[in-house]
Amino acid sequence: MVDFLILGADAAGLSAAVQIKRRLPDSEIRVISKGRIISYGACGIPYVISGDIPTPQKLVHNTPESFERTRGIPVRIRHEAKGVFPQEHSVEIRDLDTGETYRETYGKLLIGTGAQPVVLPFIDYALEGVFNLHTIEDLERVLLFLEEKKPRRAAIIGAGNIGLELAEALFRRGLRVQMFDIQPEPAFLWPSMIRKAVTAKIREKEIEFLGGTAIRSLERRNGRLVLTAQDNASFEADVVFSVVGTTPATGFCRDTLNTKKNGAIITDRHGQTCEPDIYAAGDCASVYHCLLDRNVYFPLGSTANKMGRIAGINMSGGDIEFPGVIGTQIVKFFELSLAKTGLSQEEAEKEGFRVRRYSAARLDKASYYPGAEQAKVEIVCEDDSSVLLGAVAVSEANAVQFIDAAAVAVFAGMDIRDLAWFDSAYAPPFAPVWNALISAALKASKV
Ligand SMILES: Cc1cc2nc3c(=O)[nH]c(=O)nc-3n(C[C@H](O)[C@H](O)[C@H](O)COP(=O)(O)OP(=O)(O)OC[C@H]3O[C@@H](n4cnc5c(N)ncnc54)[C@H](O)[C@@H]3O)c2cc1C
Repeated sequence: MVDFLILGADAAGLSAAVQIKRRLPDSEIRVISKGRIISYGACGIPYVISGDIPTPQKLVHNTPESFERTRGIPVRIRHEAKGVFPQEHSVEIRDLDTGETYRETYGKLLIGTGAQPVVLPFIDYALEGVFNLHTIEDLERVLLFLEEKKPRRAAIIGAGNIGLELAEALFRRGLRVQMFDIQPEPAFLWPSMIRKAVTAKIREKEIEFLGGTAIRSLERRNGRLVLTAQDNASFEADVVFSVVGTTPATGFCRDTLNTKKNGAIITDRHGQTCEPDIYAAGDCASVYHCLLDRNVYFPLGSTANKMGRIAGINMSGGDIEFPGVIGTQIVKFFELSLAKTGLSQEEAEKEGFRVRRYSAARLDKASYYPGAEQAKVEIVCEDDSSVLLGAVAVSEANAVQFIDAAAVAVFAGMDIRDLAWFDSAYAPPFAPVWNALISAALKASKV
């Protein structure tokens, strides 16, 4: 029996393993991973396709060998968990190379198996030129195809974050890009200010976006891929990407542990599941949202790293509670950075808050300083208390400066008067005195 068994060798799993080893250096820890490549930044995948990052290897932080050498933790790759048996403290594991199945027993178990791409039932993903984009192995296949076949027309099904990052990457490689989404607008899960900015950028770049289009079939005809929509309109492409979201990779333990409807393992703020010796973290698990005061599914690398670290500390005798997420995220689309924290007006109203919304547009540096770019920020506050509930930022500069300040304010429960006068940094090359976030807060506090 190993003291600690970790399923998954990426953000959540390895963060947990490292914490356990740091706190209990003599304990026996074993990491099991279905994939061949461990410890990498999936978030960088689009930038390898665009050519900003020269090779997939640049995304890899550790190999199994280097991880064992530097951290003293062995990793078994190409081993897949097939079932969890809490009574016996064991996991059924299949060696994907030999086909052999065996049981591994544990003292404490961490599930960090991430998510898997949603597959569309009418797509044969084995067709040449048809791809998901989720793992570094997917990336390697895509790069090989792009280099060998030199496709000219790409179709992307799904205009969420990954679809948009991919559209930019393919455009910058010189492909003609067509995007399809069942929703009327791109970036459908983002607030309207961001959807509008994305729509305008798509037009500017002459990417074709077909909203309200449900692709119903995909086949290879006369050497080309043909997509057919619900109204029988058909579209040709040389390469097709299906990026329509992810679902927790928990098929092997859904019957054993409490999960949300989508299969995300329910954990408390310590990362513990309904079984006391089983923890879960990352894209396979739900996470506490402190504005909504409930668990949500919000799969992001930032949260996977934090929750993995917290679970690892608690598994090895610590006692640390995750304060929760508030929905902070940022994405790049060509020159734009698009960011959000807390609740948008639509989300806040859906949750029953009465809110007010204010926006302001300002340059991100002193107006006379070269390279100053427009930034637009929208804030949402609770009507009665004036407490900040959320912010949205769109900028051709880096929106992180507004969104991280707003995230701290939302998290701390600050009201808009404090936000309007907070002691922000100013020097012409970096920021103006009255930036877009502060200006929106000034408007909101009617000063
Ligand atoms: C293209 C792309 C861009 C992204 N961009 C961003 C971004 O900009 N910002 C951001 O915050 N997030 C981003 N993400 C999301 C981020 O990558 C994930 O949230 C993060 O990787 C989740 O970490 P994880 O450890 O939970 O899961 P994963 O990284 O998915 O790792 C899961 C591990 O579990 C293993 N595994 C799976 N099933 C089993 C099994 N049954 N048995 C054993 N092992 C198993 C896998 O092989 C892998 O080692 C992006 C993701 C993609 C794909």
